Amino acid sequence: MIKPTIEHITTELLDVPIKRPHQFSTTKVTSKSFVLVKVTLTNGTVGIGEGTTPGIWWNGESVETMKLVIDAYMTPLLQGGDPSEIEALMQIVDRRIRGNTFAKAAIEMALYDALGKTYHVPVHQLLGGQCQSRIPVRWALASGTREGDVDEAVKLVSSGRYTAFKTKSGKERPSEDARRNVYIAEGIKNHAALGIDPNGSWDRLTTMTWMDAFFEAGIEFLEQPLPPADIAGMAKLTAMKRVPVMADESMQSLHDALRIVQADAADIFSLKIHKSGGMKNTVKIAGIAEAAGISCFGGTSLESSIGTAAALHAYGSILNLDYGSELFGPDWLADDLVEDPLVMKDGCILVPDKPGLGVKLNEAKTAAYRRKET
Ligand code: MN
Repeated sequence: MIKPTIEHITTELLDVPIKRPHQFSTTKVTSKSFVLVKVTLTNGTVGIGEGTTPGIWWNGESVETMKLVIDAYMTPLLQGGDPSEIEALMQIVDRRIRGNTFAKAAIEMALYDALGKTYHVPVHQLLGGQCQSRIPVRWALASGTREGDVDEAVKLVSSGRYTAFKTKSGKERPSEDARRNVYIAEGIKNHAALGIDPNGSWDRLTTMTWMDAFFEAGIEFLEQPLPPADIAGMAKLTAMKRVPVMADESMQSLHDALRIVQADAADIFSLKIHKSGGMKNTVKIAGIAEAAGISCFGGTSLESSIGTAAALHAYGSILNLDYGSELFGPDWLADDLVEDPLVMKDGCILVPDKPGLGVKLNEAKTAAYRRKET
């Protein structure tokens, strides 16, 4: 067999509507934007990848910056390359382009999809093999009101769709925010588990003051309460041994993971394929966590079925995913970009087992949601 090489790479921007407006700490969104990457190999195989972020507030990248960086800087480095050497190719990209991990993850995703399709194996086999075939999913409550959030959680539990939740916070003052979260946790205590995610918007003193109340309310974990750089503060909260502390924005790279282990600054890592620059780096970070006795949680950047499939291949390849995932992106979007949607069953999402990412692009849908040039 003649080895295929990378022939060309294309990108396009898509805007997909969501089911209900979503309140983050700094913005409220009504649609979700994606950069869709297609890598075509000389054997005719097309691999697809997706870049998306919660918003430019999250780490400074947007779908527009990803498109530019991929088109102008990454594509020339990759054309003619051997897709069976993905990690070596990504090292070339890393040495010439600093940061831009979300754009790198989108490219890596398309390369793995193309390679899996070429070898006729699902991507989890290329990442080291499958550890789990189904992963629990947690839904994010972000209706905008505390009563609305309790209502939504109770309804979802009784419908059998979800049994675990997360709240997004950070819109109000930290103490008000903490009070709201205790209200929601108390409201759903007998039905479901709740984790809190203030996206780094709280301060040390407020968080410490509320730790006992969070514990009493049965809150399952506290995700990134403090600003990403405040590792020492995260270490203080972790040392309190009340509610498990999860690192998200503080823990993006392999080096961040090591630094947090050395500082004893988290009980749980939130993994995300985009923030860490791809699936392979995510699996490596889980290895650091495993060695340190830290649990993992399968985070999301609110991907469509394409990026969610990639996350499932990565998370399905690790052992210590003790807190399940929040891979609810496809369920949150009002429409799907693939012809064979991911399967949710009893609060779990199934890891795809067809070659590559295991999802087939719906060309009509992507054409319908393609951003109109203005
Ligand atoms: Mn988070």
